[in-house]
Amino acid sequence: MEVRVRYAPSPTGLQHIGGVRTALFNYFFAKSSGGKFILRVEDTDRERYSDESLQDLYDTLDWLGVKWDEGPVVGGPYGPYIQSERTAIYQEYAKKLVDMGKAYYCYCTSERLERLREKQIAEKSPVQGYDGHCRDLTDEQRKELEAQGFKPVIRLKVPREGSTTFHDVLMGDITRENKDVSPDPVLLKSDGFPTYHLANVIDDHLMGITHIMRAQEWIPSGPLHVLLYEAFGWEVPTYCHLPMVMGSDGHKLSKRHGSTSVRDFRAKGYLPEALLNYVSLVGWSYDGEKEFFTREELEKCFSLEKINKAPGVFDYQKLDWFNAQYIRQKSDKELADLLLPYLKAAGRLDDKDYDRLLAFVPGVRDRLTLLSDIVPMTDFLEDHGEPDAAILIPKKMDAASSLSSLKAVYELVKDDLAKGRTDDELQNDLCELAQGLGIKNAGVFNPLRAAVTGLQVSPPPFSCIHLLGEEESYRRIERAIEVLEREVEKNV
Ligand code: GLU
Ligand code: ZN
Repeated sequence: MEVRVRYAPSPTGLQHIGGVRTALFNYFFAKSSGGKFILRVEDTDRERYSDESLQDLYDTLDWLGVKWDEGPVVGGPYGPYIQSERTAIYQEYAKKLVDMGKAYYCYCTSERLERLREKQIAEKSPVQGYDGHCRDLTDEQRKELEAQGFKPVIRLKVPREGSTTFHDVLMGDITRENKDVSPDPVLLKSDGFPTYHLANVIDDHLMGITHIMRAQEWIPSGPLHVLLYEAFGWEVPTYCHLPMVMGSDGHKLSKRHGSTSVRDFRAKGYLPEALLNYVSLVGWSYDGEKEFFTREELEKCFSLEKINKAPGVFDYQKLDWFNAQYIRQKSDKELADLLLPYLKAAGRLDDKDYDRLLAFVPGVRDRLTLLSDIVPMTDFLEDHGEPDAAILIPKKMDAASSLSSLKAVYELVKDDLAKGRTDDELQNDLCELAQGLGIKNAGVFNPLRAAVTGLQVSPPPFSCIHLLGEEESYRRIERAIEVLEREVEKNV
């Protein structure tokens, strides 16, 4: 039997880590078992629906490189895959249930239901919910109510005796007394729209879904869904409820822990490879050792058996570490392409500066955790004016020795760059210069750094020169030389 699984989000908010993990587990399970991954949009809650959420869903999956085999946009043999376009199907199947005696029309007004609710609360009644008032209406009673203009809902006739069991791959058998299942929930509302439960079960059946992998918070809906499958006489799919994703404090992951929306992670400069890799390890492991997985590898080796029964912990620091590792694997050009948008947005660079950025990248690659880190690292591009003499003079040196060092450094740098020497060669030449002057390496590098960037901490000075451009760098070095000259004069 071909595996068919689905990710069935409700577009009522931005895609978050928990949702993406559900999507990835379904996707990887489908791929590793040679099956199909289906995307279904569960937009029955029209009040909470937003176009922005739907677009965010598509953008997130595209960004992660997760392609659905069937679903919106691409279509497929069981479409439409957007629930709001399937209303007629739900109406047809709800009526079928009524005809089979498994569901019934209910004409109770919202006032009656409200009074019922208040009464149950006041009496602390063990059964909360609908009291079955319309369960046994005769055809005549119904006709009369319809003639009076009452619009019915359709409710499921939940058996009052017995119990319902379903099997979960991770949790084993889960049993619930039928009397404890929500009594006679609404399947079809009076406006003809389905409730979540009806649409979800009908679609999973009609779309041939074999395995339902979803968040554990849906376990309480399990018995009701199984009762619905049984009412229709349909085979129940295999369930695999996924353990929760928690923050490091043991509470369900939420905004309190940090960003949870993929859009936020993306904006900060996490790479899709890193997020995909790390999120796949939250509650799943291959052999407990291997940590780096490409999407292609996970498409081959993912398996349900390796899903952890315990809740998964989402560790932001670990994700950062993965991100830094993936950044290091990028070529100069790949990384420059990824960084340029951040620098453009910060008003620091333009397309025409691309080659200078390319020359800067090797010096900062290993210092980046997030792509957005590039912005504070390029603060020196903005000219903060004449540097203080203090930062131009290294420890244990005075103004005069710093001045002669910086002058020599300047000559050498200009000469080397004109000759097209590489950064490594330049580095060697400067170390030799320090030796010749009888000073520590810091005595040549620090004045250069301070002169070019105006800062005491920055990316490697040559990298900064490449990014600033030679002309501007030399202007700044000459200015620093003047600052030191004045300082020397002051001291005599
Ligand atoms: N629309 C539901 C959700 O957003 C899907 C639940 C399910 O996968 O069955 O969580
Ligand atoms: Zn009723």
